[in-house]
Amino acid sequence: MSNALSNPVIESEEHRALRAAVAALAKRYGREYFATVVAEGRHTDELWQEAAKAGYLGVNLPEEYGGGGAGITELSLVLEELGAAGCPLLMLVVSPAICGTVIARFGTEEQKRTWLPGLADGSRKMAFGITEPDAGSNSHRITTTARKEGGDWVLNGRKIFVSGVDIADATLIVGRTEDAGTGKLKPCLFIVPREAPGFGRSPVAMELAAPEKQFELTLDDVRLPADALVGDQDAGLLQLFAGLNPERIMTAAFALGMGRYALARAVDYARTRQVWKEPIGAHQALAHPLAQCHIELELAALMMRKAALLYDAGDDMAAGEAANMAKYAAAEAAVHTVDQAVHTLGGNGLTREYGLASLVTAARVARIAPVSREMILNFVSHQSLGLPKSY
Ligand SMILES: Cc1cc2nc3c(=O)[nH]c(=O)nc-3n(C[C@H](O)[C@H](O)[C@H](O)COP(=O)(O)OP(=O)(O)OC[C@H]3O[C@@H](n4cnc5c(N)ncnc54)[C@H](O)[C@@H]3O)c2cc1C
Repeated sequence: MSNALSNPVIESEEHRALRAAVAALAKRYGREYFATVVAEGRHTDELWQEAAKAGYLGVNLPEEYGGGGAGITELSLVLEELGAAGCPLLMLVVSPAICGTVIARFGTEEQKRTWLPGLADGSRKMAFGITEPDAGSNSHRITTTARKEGGDWVLNGRKIFVSGVDIADATLIVGRTEDAGTGKLKPCLFIVPREAPGFGRSPVAMELAAPEKQFELTLDDVRLPADALVGDQDAGLLQLFAGLNPERIMTAAFALGMGRYALARAVDYARTRQVWKEPIGAHQALAHPLAQCHIELELAALMMRKAALLYDAGDDMAAGEAANMAKYAAAEAAVHTVDQAVHTLGGNGLTREYGLASLVTAARVARIAPVSREMILNFVSHQSLGLPKSY
Protein backbone atom coordinates (compact mmCIF):
# COMPACT_ATOMS: atom_id res chain seq x y z
CA MET A 1 0.00 0.00 0.00
CA SER A 2 1.44 3.38 -0.96
CA ASN A 3 1.85 6.25 1.40
CA ALA A 4 1.49 9.86 0.41
CA LEU A 5 5.18 10.59 0.17
CA SER A 6 6.77 7.47 -1.28
CA ASN A 7 6.79 8.91 -4.74
CA PRO A 8 9.89 10.21 -6.52
CA VAL A 9 8.17 13.46 -7.47
CA ILE A 10 7.34 14.26 -3.86
CA GLU A 11 10.09 12.60 -1.88
CA SER A 12 13.82 12.66 -2.60
CA GLU A 13 15.73 9.51 -3.38
CA GLU A 14 17.55 9.90 -0.06
CA HIS A 15 14.30 10.06 1.88
CA ARG A 16 12.83 7.09 0.08
CA ALA A 17 16.01 5.11 0.76
CA LEU A 18 15.84 6.02 4.46
CA ARG A 19 12.16 5.09 4.56
CA ALA A 20 12.85 1.73 2.90
CA ALA A 21 15.80 0.95 5.19
CA VAL A 22 13.86 1.76 8.37
CA ALA A 23 10.86 -0.21 7.12
CA ALA A 24 13.07 -3.24 6.43
CA LEU A 25 14.62 -3.09 9.89
CA ALA A 26 11.26 -2.64 11.62
CA LYS A 27 9.74 -5.48 9.64
CA ARG A 28 12.39 -7.87 10.98
CA TYR A 29 11.09 -7.08 14.47
CA GLY A 30 7.40 -6.61 13.65
CA ARG A 31 4.31 -6.48 15.81
CA GLU A 32 4.97 -9.85 17.40
CA TYR A 33 8.25 -8.62 18.85
CA PHE A 34 6.54 -5.49 20.16
CA ALA A 35 3.67 -7.44 21.70
CA THR A 36 6.09 -9.90 23.34
CA VAL A 37 8.14 -7.09 24.83
CA VAL A 38 4.97 -5.54 26.27
CA ALA A 39 3.69 -8.87 27.60
CA GLU A 40 7.01 -9.58 29.32
CA GLY A 41 7.18 -6.07 30.81
CA ARG A 42 10.43 -5.36 28.98
CA HIS A 43 11.54 -2.51 26.76
CA THR A 44 12.33 -2.43 23.06
CA ASP A 45 16.07 -2.29 23.76
CA GLU A 46 17.15 -4.54 20.88
CA LEU A 47 15.26 -2.50 18.29
CA TRP A 48 16.27 0.79 19.90
CA GLN A 49 19.94 -0.15 19.81
CA GLU A 50 19.90 -1.50 16.28
CA ALA A 51 18.04 1.54 14.97
CA ALA A 52 20.45 3.81 16.84
CA LYS A 53 23.50 2.01 15.49
CA ALA A 54 22.20 2.51 11.96
CA GLY A 55 21.99 6.24 12.71
CA TYR A 56 18.20 6.48 12.53
CA LEU A 57 17.48 7.71 16.07
CA GLY A 58 19.86 10.65 15.97
CA VAL A 59 19.26 11.52 12.35
CA ASN A 60 18.04 15.02 13.30
CA LEU A 61 20.93 15.88 15.64
CA PRO A 62 23.98 17.88 14.53
CA GLU A 63 26.77 15.91 12.89
CA GLU A 64 29.47 17.43 15.07
CA TYR A 65 27.83 15.79 18.10
CA GLY A 66 27.38 12.39 16.51
CA GLY A 67 24.02 12.94 14.84
CA GLY A 68 23.01 12.61 11.22
CA GLY A 69 22.84 16.34 10.53
CA ALA A 70 19.36 16.08 9.02
CA GLY A 71 16.09 17.33 10.51
CA ILE A 72 12.68 16.56 11.95
CA THR A 73 11.57 15.65 8.42
CA GLU A 74 13.88 12.64 8.53
CA LEU A 75 13.21 11.75 12.17
CA SER A 76 9.45 11.81 11.61
CA LEU A 77 9.88 9.53 8.64
CA VAL A 78 11.84 7.09 10.84
CA LEU A 79 9.09 7.02 13.48
CA GLU A 80 6.33 6.70 10.90
CA GLU A 81 7.99 3.66 9.33
CA LEU A 82 8.67 1.99 12.69
CA GLY A 83 5.01 2.47 13.57
CA ALA A 84 3.79 1.24 10.20
CA ALA A 85 5.59 -2.04 10.95
CA GLY A 86 3.90 -2.25 14.34
CA CYS A 87 6.89 -1.07 16.38
CA PRO A 88 6.40 2.58 17.36
CA LEU A 89 9.18 3.88 19.61
CA LEU A 90 7.47 6.54 21.72
CA MET A 91 10.76 7.72 23.22
CA LEU A 92 11.76 9.04 19.80
CA VAL A 93 9.18 11.78 20.31
CA VAL A 94 10.79 12.79 23.55
CA SER A 95 14.49 11.98 23.55
CA PRO A 96 15.99 13.09 20.22
CA ALA A 97 13.04 15.20 19.03
CA ILE A 98 12.23 17.41 22.02
CA CYS A 99 15.23 17.14 24.33
CA GLY A 100 17.83 16.72 21.60
CA THR A 101 16.45 19.68 19.68
CA VAL A 102 16.27 21.98 22.71
CA ILE A 103 19.81 21.13 23.79
CA ALA A 104 21.17 21.43 20.24
CA ARG A 105 19.53 24.82 19.78
CA PHE A 106 19.90 26.39 23.21
CA GLY A 107 22.28 24.28 25.30
CA THR A 108 25.78 25.32 26.29
CA GLU A 109 28.74 23.72 24.56
CA GLU A 110 29.22 21.58 27.66
CA GLN A 111 25.58 20.41 27.65
CA LYS A 112 25.79 19.55 23.96
CA ARG A 113 28.96 17.52 24.50
CA THR A 114 27.50 15.79 27.53
CA TRP A 115 24.14 14.83 26.04
CA LEU A 116 23.93 14.89 22.27
CA PRO A 117 26.34 12.06 21.37
CA GLY A 118 24.51 9.71 23.76
CA LEU A 119 21.07 10.74 22.53
CA ALA A 120 22.29 10.27 18.96
CA ASP A 121 23.80 6.82 19.42
CA GLY A 122 20.94 5.68 21.62
CA SER A 123 23.11 4.95 24.66
CA ARG A 124 21.32 7.67 26.64
CA LYS A 125 17.70 8.78 26.74
CA MET A 126 15.94 11.80 28.06
CA ALA A 127 12.30 12.20 29.12
CA PHE A 128 10.36 15.46 29.04
CA GLY A 129 8.07 16.72 31.79
CA ILE A 130 5.73 19.66 31.42
CA THR A 131 2.24 18.40 32.37
CA GLU A 132 1.12 19.08 35.94
CA PRO A 133 -1.90 17.69 37.79
CA ASP A 134 -3.36 21.14 38.53
CA ALA A 135 -2.44 22.80 35.24
CA GLY A 136 -3.22 20.18 32.57
CA SER A 137 -3.73 21.80 29.18
CA ASN A 138 -3.12 25.23 30.66
CA SER A 139 0.67 25.29 30.82
CA HIS A 140 0.56 28.88 32.01
CA ARG A 141 -0.58 27.51 35.35
CA ILE A 142 2.39 25.28 36.02
CA THR A 143 3.81 25.80 39.48
CA THR A 144 7.02 23.79 39.45
CA THR A 145 9.36 26.45 40.73
CA ALA A 146 13.10 26.90 40.62
CA ARG A 147 14.81 29.13 43.16
CA LYS A 148 18.42 30.20 43.13
CA GLU A 149 20.42 29.19 46.19
CA GLY A 150 24.06 30.12 46.05
CA GLY A 151 25.20 28.84 42.70
CA ASP A 152 22.58 26.07 42.64
CA TRP A 153 18.99 25.71 41.52
CA VAL A 154 16.46 24.18 43.88
CA LEU A 155 13.32 22.76 42.26
CA ASN A 156 9.96 21.99 43.84
CA GLY A 157 6.80 20.79 42.15
CA ARG A 158 4.84 17.91 40.66
CA LYS A 159 4.41 16.48 37.20
CA ILE A 160 2.02 13.88 35.81
CA PHE A 161 1.89 11.44 32.88
CA VAL A 162 5.58 11.87 32.07
CA SER A 163 6.64 9.02 29.77
CA GLY A 164 9.73 6.86 30.14
CA VAL A 165 11.25 8.48 33.23
CA ASP A 166 12.42 5.06 34.46
CA ILE A 167 14.42 4.38 31.29
CA ALA A 168 15.68 7.93 30.80
CA ASP A 169 19.02 9.05 32.20
CA ALA A 170 17.47 12.42 32.91
CA THR A 171 14.23 14.33 32.46
CA LEU A 172 14.02 17.78 30.94
CA ILE A 173 11.68 19.48 33.39
CA VAL A 174 9.75 22.62 32.53
CA GLY A 175 9.48 24.97 35.50
CA ARG A 176 9.37 28.66 36.24
CA THR A 177 11.73 30.76 38.27
CA GLU A 178 10.59 32.01 41.65
CA ASP A 179 10.35 35.65 40.56
CA ALA A 180 8.18 34.63 37.61
CA GLY A 181 5.63 32.89 39.82
CA THR A 182 2.59 34.78 38.58
CA GLY A 183 1.19 35.95 35.30
CA LYS A 184 2.27 34.65 31.93
CA LEU A 185 4.45 31.60 31.82
CA LYS A 186 8.14 32.23 31.39
CA PRO A 187 9.27 28.64 31.22
CA CYS A 188 12.72 27.47 32.25
CA LEU A 189 14.11 24.10 31.31
CA PHE A 190 16.19 21.98 33.67
CA ILE A 191 18.01 18.71 33.18
CA VAL A 192 17.12 16.56 36.20
CA PRO A 193 19.13 13.32 36.48
CA ARG A 194 17.01 10.23 37.18
CA GLU A 195 18.54 9.56 40.58
CA ALA A 196 18.76 13.17 41.77
CA PRO A 197 17.95 13.30 45.52
CA GLY A 198 14.36 14.50 46.01
CA PHE A 199 13.28 13.47 42.49
CA GLY A 200 10.54 10.88 43.09
CA ARG A 201 8.50 8.90 40.57
CA SER A 202 5.57 6.55 40.78
CA PRO A 203 3.98 4.83 37.80
CA VAL A 204 0.46 5.81 36.76
CA ALA A 205 -1.62 2.71 36.04
CA MET A 206 -2.60 3.18 32.38
CA GLU A 207 -4.76 0.99 30.14
CA LEU A 208 -2.12 1.04 27.43
CA ALA A 209 -0.23 -1.89 25.92
CA ALA A 210 3.07 -0.08 25.52
CA PRO A 211 6.60 -0.64 26.79
CA GLU A 212 6.89 2.99 27.94
CA LYS A 213 5.24 3.80 31.25
CA GLN A 214 3.83 7.11 32.46
CA PHE A 215 4.88 8.54 35.82
CA GLU A 216 3.80 11.00 38.42
CA LEU A 217 6.85 12.95 39.51
CA THR A 218 7.59 14.80 42.70
CA LEU A 219 10.37 17.35 42.95
CA ASP A 220 11.08 17.91 46.58
CA ASP A 221 13.95 20.38 47.05
CA VAL A 222 15.83 18.87 44.11
CA ARG A 223 19.18 20.64 44.16
CA LEU A 224 20.84 21.03 40.78
CA PRO A 225 24.06 22.72 39.69
CA ALA A 226 23.84 26.04 37.80
CA ASP A 227 24.50 24.28 34.51
CA ALA A 228 21.32 22.18 34.83
CA LEU A 229 19.46 25.13 33.28
CA VAL A 230 19.17 24.78 29.50
CA GLY A 231 19.16 28.06 27.66
CA ASP A 232 18.29 31.46 28.95
CA GLN A 233 16.02 31.75 31.99
CA ASP A 234 14.42 34.84 30.43
CA ALA A 235 13.98 33.51 26.91
CA GLY A 236 10.36 32.59 27.59
CA LEU A 237 8.23 30.49 25.31
CA LEU A 238 10.55 30.60 22.30
CA GLN A 239 12.88 27.93 23.68
CA LEU A 240 10.02 25.76 24.79
CA PHE A 241 8.34 25.83 21.39
CA ALA A 242 11.62 24.86 19.78
CA GLY A 243 10.95 21.51 21.44
CA LEU A 244 7.16 21.43 21.34
CA ASN A 245 6.80 21.85 17.59
CA PRO A 246 8.97 18.77 16.93
CA GLU A 247 6.91 16.98 19.59
CA ARG A 248 3.69 17.68 17.68
CA ILE A 249 5.22 16.66 14.35
CA MET A 250 6.56 13.46 15.88
CA THR A 251 3.21 12.69 17.49
CA ALA A 252 1.73 13.02 14.01
CA ALA A 253 4.32 10.49 12.79
CA PHE A 254 3.46 8.18 15.69
CA ALA A 255 -0.25 8.36 14.82
CA LEU A 256 0.35 7.97 11.09
CA GLY A 257 2.49 4.88 11.56
CA MET A 258 -0.14 3.32 13.78
CA GLY A 259 -2.90 4.20 11.35
CA ARG A 260 -1.02 2.70 8.43
CA TYR A 261 -0.34 -0.46 10.41
CA ALA A 262 -4.02 -0.87 11.35
CA LEU A 263 -5.22 -0.13 7.83
CA ALA A 264 -2.87 -2.69 6.29
CA ARG A 265 -4.09 -5.37 8.72
CA ALA A 266 -7.72 -4.54 7.93
CA VAL A 267 -7.16 -4.56 4.17
CA ASP A 268 -5.35 -7.93 4.31
CA TYR A 269 -8.24 -9.35 6.27
CA ALA A 270 -10.97 -7.84 4.10
CA ARG A 271 -9.34 -9.26 0.98
CA THR A 272 -9.46 -12.84 2.19
CA ARG A 273 -12.21 -13.22 4.76
CA GLN A 274 -15.23 -14.74 3.06
CA VAL A 275 -18.60 -15.35 4.67
CA TRP A 276 -20.83 -14.92 1.59
CA LYS A 277 -20.02 -15.25 -2.07
CA GLU A 278 -17.29 -12.57 -2.18
CA PRO A 279 -14.59 -11.58 0.33
CA ILE A 280 -15.95 -9.05 2.83
CA GLY A 281 -13.79 -6.32 1.23
CA ALA A 282 -16.12 -6.38 -1.76
CA HIS A 283 -18.92 -4.93 0.36
CA GLN A 284 -18.81 -1.19 -0.06
CA ALA A 285 -19.98 -0.75 3.51
CA LEU A 286 -16.54 -2.04 4.47
CA ALA A 287 -14.47 -0.91 1.49
CA HIS A 288 -15.51 2.75 1.51
CA PRO A 289 -14.68 3.46 5.13
CA LEU A 290 -11.25 1.86 4.58
CA ALA A 291 -10.74 3.99 1.47
CA GLN A 292 -11.76 7.02 3.50
CA CYS A 293 -9.18 6.13 6.18
CA HIS A 294 -6.49 5.79 3.53
CA ILE A 295 -7.34 9.26 2.21
CA GLU A 296 -7.29 10.76 5.70
CA LEU A 297 -3.89 9.21 6.45
CA GLU A 298 -2.47 10.46 3.15
CA LEU A 299 -3.71 14.00 3.82
CA ALA A 300 -2.27 13.95 7.32
CA ALA A 301 1.07 12.73 5.96
CA LEU A 302 1.23 15.69 3.61
CA MET A 303 0.44 18.09 6.44
CA MET A 304 3.11 16.49 8.58
CA ARG A 305 5.61 16.96 5.79
CA LYS A 306 4.65 20.63 5.46
CA ALA A 307 5.15 21.16 9.20
CA ALA A 308 8.49 19.36 9.21
CA LEU A 309 9.74 21.30 6.19
CA LEU A 310 8.81 24.62 7.79
CA TYR A 311 10.40 23.62 11.06
CA ASP A 312 13.61 22.44 9.43
CA ALA A 313 13.74 25.66 7.41
CA GLY A 314 13.78 27.59 10.70
CA ASP A 315 10.34 29.16 10.43
CA ASP A 316 9.15 28.46 13.97
CA MET A 317 5.99 30.57 13.67
CA ALA A 318 4.64 28.94 10.52
CA ALA A 319 5.80 25.55 11.76
CA GLY A 320 3.75 26.05 14.93
CA GLU A 321 0.47 26.31 13.07
CA ALA A 322 1.33 23.48 10.67
CA ALA A 323 2.61 21.20 13.44
CA ASN A 324 -0.64 21.64 15.37
CA MET A 325 -2.70 20.93 12.26
CA ALA A 326 -0.59 17.90 11.37
CA LYS A 327 -0.94 16.46 14.89
CA TYR A 328 -4.69 17.05 14.77
CA ALA A 329 -5.12 15.49 11.33
CA ALA A 330 -2.92 12.48 12.04
CA ALA A 331 -4.52 11.76 15.41
CA GLU A 332 -8.03 11.97 14.00
CA ALA A 333 -7.03 9.78 11.05
CA ALA A 334 -5.44 7.22 13.38
CA VAL A 335 -8.41 7.07 15.76
CA HIS A 336 -10.82 6.66 12.84
CA THR A 337 -8.62 4.09 11.09
CA VAL A 338 -8.05 1.93 14.16
CA ASP A 339 -11.77 1.96 14.91
CA GLN A 340 -12.59 0.96 11.35
CA ALA A 341 -9.85 -1.68 11.29
CA VAL A 342 -11.16 -3.31 14.46
CA HIS A 343 -14.65 -3.30 12.99
CA THR A 344 -13.44 -4.84 9.74
CA LEU A 345 -12.14 -7.86 11.62
CA GLY A 346 -15.43 -8.43 13.42
CA GLY A 347 -14.84 -10.54 16.54
CA ASN A 348 -11.22 -11.03 15.58
CA GLY A 349 -10.80 -7.27 15.89
CA LEU A 350 -11.01 -7.73 19.64
CA THR A 351 -8.83 -10.81 19.99
CA ARG A 352 -5.30 -10.62 21.29
CA GLU A 353 -4.14 -12.76 18.39
CA TYR A 354 -4.94 -10.12 15.80
CA GLY A 355 -3.46 -7.36 17.94
CA LEU A 356 -5.72 -4.49 16.87
CA ALA A 357 -7.80 -4.01 20.02
CA SER A 358 -4.87 -2.61 22.00
CA LEU A 359 -4.50 0.11 19.37
CA VAL A 360 -7.89 1.53 20.34
CA THR A 361 -6.43 3.11 23.47
CA ALA A 362 -3.02 3.69 21.89
CA ALA A 363 -4.55 5.77 19.09
CA ARG A 364 -6.45 7.89 21.62
CA VAL A 365 -3.13 8.98 23.12
CA ALA A 366 -2.41 10.98 19.99
CA ARG A 367 -5.75 12.75 20.34
CA ILE A 368 -5.04 13.74 23.95
CA ALA A 369 -1.27 14.29 24.06
CA PRO A 370 0.88 16.31 23.91
CA VAL A 371 -1.87 18.81 23.28
CA SER A 372 -5.51 17.81 23.03
CA ARG A 373 -7.71 18.02 19.98
CA GLU A 374 -9.70 20.85 21.57
CA MET A 375 -6.62 22.90 22.40
CA ILE A 376 -5.52 22.65 18.77
CA LEU A 377 -8.97 23.77 17.63
CA ASN A 378 -8.66 26.65 20.10
CA PHE A 379 -5.24 27.52 18.66
CA VAL A 380 -6.53 27.50 15.10
CA SER A 381 -9.65 29.48 16.06
CA HIS A 382 -7.60 32.20 17.74
CA GLN A 383 -4.28 32.25 15.92
CA SER A 384 -5.31 31.30 12.40
CA LEU A 385 -8.84 32.67 12.24
CA GLY A 386 -8.56 35.55 14.69
CA LEU A 387 -11.66 34.52 16.65
CA PRO A 388 -12.05 35.66 20.27
CA LYS A 389 -11.10 33.44 23.20
CA SER A 390 -13.59 31.84 25.59
CA TYR A 391 -11.02 31.24 28.33
C1 LIG B 1 0.12 8.16 27.20
C2 LIG B 1 0.44 9.57 27.58
C3 LIG B 1 1.75 9.99 27.57
C4 LIG B 1 2.08 11.29 28.00
N1 LIG B 1 3.40 11.66 28.04
C5 LIG B 1 3.73 12.87 28.56
C6 LIG B 1 5.10 13.23 28.71
O1 LIG B 1 6.01 12.48 28.37
N2 LIG B 1 5.38 14.44 29.26
C7 LIG B 1 4.40 15.31 29.64
O2 LIG B 1 4.73 16.39 30.13
N3 LIG B 1 3.09 15.00 29.50
C8 LIG B 1 2.73 13.80 28.96
N4 LIG B 1 1.40 13.46 28.81
C9 LIG B 1 0.36 14.39 29.27
C10 LIG B 1 -0.45 15.03 28.14
O3 LIG B 1 0.32 15.96 27.45
C11 LIG B 1 -1.71 15.62 28.79
O4 LIG B 1 -2.52 14.53 29.19
C12 LIG B 1 -2.45 16.55 27.86
O5 LIG B 1 -1.72 17.73 27.67
C13 LIG B 1 -3.85 16.93 28.41
O6 LIG B 1 -3.76 17.40 29.72
P1 LIG B 1 -4.70 16.77 30.85
O7 LIG B 1 -4.59 15.31 30.78
O8 LIG B 1 -4.40 17.44 32.13
O9 LIG B 1 -6.17 17.15 30.39
P2 LIG B 1 -7.02 18.46 30.78
O10 LIG B 1 -6.21 19.68 30.52
O11 LIG B 1 -7.59 18.28 32.12
O12 LIG B 1 -8.18 18.38 29.69
C14 LIG B 1 -9.29 17.49 29.83
C15 LIG B 1 -10.24 17.72 28.66
O13 LIG B 1 -10.69 19.07 28.68
C16 LIG B 1 -10.46 19.67 27.41
N5 LIG B 1 -10.13 21.08 27.59
C17 LIG B 1 -9.28 21.64 28.51
N6 LIG B 1 -9.23 22.97 28.33
C18 LIG B 1 -10.06 23.28 27.31
C19 LIG B 1 -10.43 24.48 26.65
N7 LIG B 1 -9.93 25.66 27.01
N8 LIG B 1 -11.29 24.40 25.63
C20 LIG B 1 -11.82 23.21 25.24
N9 LIG B 1 -11.51 22.03 25.82
C21 LIG B 1 -10.63 22.07 26.84
C22 LIG B 1 -9.27 18.90 26.81
O14 LIG B 1 -9.26 18.98 25.42
C23 LIG B 1 -9.56 17.49 27.31
O15 LIG B 1 -10.45 16.86 26.43
C24 LIG B 1 1.05 12.19 28.38
C25 LIG B 1 -0.28 11.76 28.34
C26 LIG B 1 -0.60 10.49 27.95
C27 LIG B 1 -2.04 10.05 27.96
